[in-house]
Amino acid sequence: VARFARRMLALTPEVLAGRDLVLLDGVQEPGNVGAILRTAAAAGVGAVLLGPGCADHWAPKVLRAAMGAHFVLPIAAIDDPEPWFAARRGRVFATALAEKAVPLYALGLKAPALWLFGAEGAGVRPEWLAVADACVRIPMPGAMESLNVAAAVAVCLFEAVRQRLCQAKKGVVS
Ligand code: SAM
Repeated sequence: VARFARRMLALTPEVLAGRDLVLLDGVQEPGNVGAILRTAAAAGVGAVLLGPGCADHWAPKVLRAAMGAHFVLPIAAIDDPEPWFAARRGRVFATALAEKAVPLYALGLKAPALWLFGAEGAGVRPEWLAVADACVRIPMPGAMESLNVAAAVAVCLFEAVRQRLCQAKKGVVS
């Protein structure tokens, strides 16, 4: 517990060098925030940062959905994302539905990135989209307009896991 508490107190971009980071913009639904924390912990993310308007990560519904992620994953509510953008400059990826966005599967994801995911209704705010290095879209061949934000987080983070594992070892089933 003491080691975990020290890690939470020292949550700065510097101590998380080399790790992916997730920044949520106004994700309000506690079940979504909890599911995102669970997925981020499973994917080995360095920290999840909750921007303005996100559900409180200590809310009971968040704790339930996160299934213990709070014990293994640094989580912080932040007002100013600027130092975090600066720490991953060149690799700040904002997820969005825009036609012009880069398809996820065209990105090289072996180096650590800062991922931005947006609110259930409004998406990532325009000011944050403007400072991102790329807007990234998950291709959706089906008829829906968008994915649930927690599903989008899982697709992106586990694409990065897949690319890193493929670098380490070729598949055993062709
Ligand atoms: N109306 C919103 C918009 O236009 O962005 C839709 C928000 S969507 C329900 C919530 C968040 O999930 C988005 O901000 C984005 O982070 C992520 N998301 C959902 N589907 C996505 C997709 N196909 N590609 C990239 N991100 C997606």
